[in-house]
Order: sequence, then structure tokens, then C-alpha cells
Amino acid sequence: MAGEQEFDCDLVIIGAGLTGLSLACWLLELSAQKQQPLPTVHLLEPREEYHNDRTWCFWDSEYHPFRHLISHRWSHWQVSRGERSVSQSSEQAPYAMLPAGRVYQHAVERIESCSRLSLRQGITVEEIRDSDDGVLISTAAGQWRARAVIDTRPPDATRVDQKLGFWQVFTGYEIHCPGHRYDTGMARLMDFQRCNEHICFVYLLPLDQDNLLVEWTEFDPGGEWPDCQARLEAWLDERGFADYTVKRSESGKLPMMPVSQSRQQGRIVRAGVGAGWMRAATGYHFATCQRNCSELAGQILAAAASGHWHFHSTEARKHWLDWMDRVFLRALRRHPETAPDWFLDLFSATTAEQMARFMNDQPRWGDAVAVAAALPAMPFLRAALP
Ligand SMILES: Cc1cc2nc3c(=O)[nH]c(=O)nc-3n(C[C@H](O)[C@H](O)[C@H](O)COP(=O)(O)OP(=O)(O)OC[C@H]3O[C@@H](n4cnc5c(N)ncnc54)[C@H](O)[C@@H]3O)c2cc1C
Repeated sequence: MAGEQEFDCDLVIIGAGLTGLSLACWLLELSAQKQQPLPTVHLLEPREEYHNDRTWCFWDSEYHPFRHLISHRWSHWQVSRGERSVSQSSEQAPYAMLPAGRVYQHAVERIESCSRLSLRQGITVEEIRDSDDGVLISTAAGQWRARAVIDTRPPDATRVDQKLGFWQVFTGYEIHCPGHRYDTGMARLMDFQRCNEHICFVYLLPLDQDNLLVEWTEFDPGGEWPDCQARLEAWLDERGFADYTVKRSESGKLPMMPVSQSRQQGRIVRAGVGAGWMRAATGYHFATCQRNCSELAGQILAAAASGHWHFHSTEARKHWLDWMDRVFLRALRRHPETAPDWFLDLFSATTAEQMARFMNDQPRWGDAVAVAAALPAMPFLRAALP
């Protein structure tokens, strides 16, 4: 039941995870750059506390407000299966890692330093209603009345096309294991494992001589949630990691599936994974999230200046890229056993820069052609048919 307190502001951002916090930081940056006044913004977030619950990795080629917080960069990355491995190298677009704890802390401090922005934690939004004089947002702690809303809540199961893609299920450990002997300059993105049911691989980032981030990942079409923790521990045992200490763990179930879009424009728009910003074929989201938050922050400042609170949803990526992903996912679901070879072929037929642009949702036509040419024609032509 809604509480009795009432709050007024120009804009409510529902959810202060990656997208909500990024949007707040982009608003602060752009308003300072363009010398445009900020609207009053309230971010509503159920979490009472932030924890260093994940790491965001991406190819580091563009500016964003958290770039100075990147903890590691690898100029070399590789995919492998058994004895076969393919490597790529780029100094211009290294693979980068950003610990979530740093992002949360920095964003919260920046929000607290500005009287126009307010982060309200411990608040779960229950209902949003669009009315003639604004948007009403109901929570157990009271009701907010705002001119507009950006909704960054994750999509519910009805909005993802579960017939098409996979659940990317993973568990990762950051471990202390002195003298691990992995090359600290090389990010191991996919080391495919023998697995009867699913496409599965180990993701291994050497953080320094003594520390690794290592994850077990499976692409699960049915949502049966394999026990990735047990498989990760079995893999570590098999590899002879006897004396390691787990410093931190992270896990997730990401929908590698197209997300249907309901609200495209108006006073209430979606943003983040719930708006389809996460790439269905890869589960990567960070770089696209920054680009889209920058654009949305520009729209918010323009709305505050004009008093016309009407947004249009941003284009997360080119439509043809979404189409390519759907074909790719369909082919992967039909032929999971050959998927590892396809990934290796893909990395061997493209340059590092092509791959970085493609993965960060900014491919040129030539990159898309190189990717398409690397994959076997028949299964993909069949998957492209309606
Ligand atoms: C462990 C893990 C590792 C990942 N690693 C990467 C990576 O390396 N690279 C990459 O690109 N992507 C990665 N991702 C995917 C993606 O970038 C993250 O999931 C990212 O946090 C998604 O951002 P978001 O803002 O859309 O969602 P979230 O960060 O989940 O934020 C949504 C917010 O909405 C809040 N919320 C939910 N319900 C309500 C409600 N009713 N009222 C108010 N607020 C609500 C939640 O508490 C949350 O804070 C990873 C995901 C996970 C889980």
C-alpha cells in the first residue's frame, strides 16, 4: 500500500544500477560542459547498500565518466578450444575491466555533491501512472510526482524472447593463487570446455602474478540453471589449483535474447537491459549503456530547458546488427556442438579492431562483412530464413 508522504521532482530514475547511476553521471558531465541547468532528479533504488558485486568488461575505445576507474587493461585476448587457440592484439582498443564497487562509490559521491540530484535507497517502485499533470510513482515509502520517468528496471520474463536465445549463466571467483603462471597480458575470453548439454567455457582474466578472475559460463536454452559454481570448482581442481583463496565471487543469469520494447517515446521511457541495450548475442552491455546514457542525458537537459518533457528511446544499435544477432542465436541453438569452432573461426578471420568495434556495437559495414564471411554459409542461411 502506498505511504502518505509525497515528493515532487522533475525526473524520477527508477533503479540506480549501472544505467541509473551512469545516467546521473552523464547528466552532471553534460550540464557542466554545456552550462545547462540540471533538473531535479530523484533516483529510487531498492538496495540499501552497494557491494562490489560484479566487474564490467568491454573494449576500451571511448570516453565515459568512469574511464579513470578502470582497474585492468589487456592488449591481447584469446579464444580457445583444447589445443587450438586464436589471439588478437590491439593497443587502441584494449579489453578493460571496471570493478562495480568503484563505479558505485564514485557515482554515489558525485550525486551527493549536487543538490539537484538525490539518491533514495531502500525504495522499491510498485506502480507508475501517467496522468494529465505528470507521472505518479507509488512506493511503500510514499508517492513521487514527476514530469517524466526513466525506468531502468530489468525486463520481466514476458518481455524476453525465450524461444530464440539462451540464458547466459555464470559463476566467477576472484582468487588469490600466488604464482599461477598465466600470462598477465592475455585475457582469455572463451576457453571452451567439453560439456554434454550446453555451450560452456571458462573466462579467465589474470589480474596480476598472484590473482585471477575465473568464471564458468554456460549458454542454457531452457533456463534450467546449471550449477556453475560446482563446475567452476571442479575445473579449478582438475587444473591443479590447490591453494587458492576466494576473495570475491559473482554470478549472473543474463538473457541473451531479444527484449520486446513497449514504451518507445513519451514521458516514460525504458533504459538499460530492460530497453534492449544489452547485446543479445553476447551479453555485453557496458559500452552501449554509456553511449545511450550520454544521448538520453542530452534529451533530459533539452527537456529541462524547453519544459517539453517528451523523450524518444535511443537506438541501442543498428537494426541490422540485431538481425545478425538473431540469426546467430538461432544457428547456435540448432548447432551447439559446432559453436566453439564458429567462435574460433570468427576471431581468426577478423582483426582485433574489427572485433572490438563489433563487440562494442559500433561495427562498420566492412566489419559485419568480415564477420559474416567467417561463418559457414549453410547453417546461417537456414537460420536467416523466417
Ligand atoms: C555478475 C554480472 C557481471 C556482468 N559483467 C558484464 C561485463 O563484464 N560487461 C558487460 O558489458 N555487461 C556485464 N553484465 C551485464 C550488464 O552490464 C549488467 O547486468 C548491468 O548491471 C545492467 O545494467 P542495468 O542498469 O540495466 O541493470 P542493473 O544494474 O541490474 O540495475 C537495475 C536496477 O533496478 C533496480 N530495481 C529493480 N526493481 C526495482 C523496483 N521495483 N523499483 C526500483 N528499482 C528497482 C535494481 O535494484 C537495480 O539496481 C554483467 C552482469 C552481471 C549480473
